[in-house]
Amino acid sequence: MTAPRKTMDEPVYLGMPLDEPTPVVHCRTCNQAARQREAARERDDPSAVTDANVIIRQHPHDRMDAR
Ligand SMILES: [Zn+2]
Repeated sequence: MTAPRKTMDEPVYLGMPLDEPTPVVHCRTCNQAARQREAARERDDPSAVTDANVIIRQHPHDRMDAR
């Protein structure tokens, strides 16, 4: 027998999602996108923030041991 649920669902976040990707330290593309993301935030441009997040998430990262 299962007890009825008494807890609420997780809140739904609208607008700014909290799952922003973290730039890879030694990746040039990540660092560039992270700078663009900060600049976009400063000029209050959430669509550019999202664009930068997509770049950070989806590009192939530089390898720090690349020779
Ligand atoms: Zn990267």
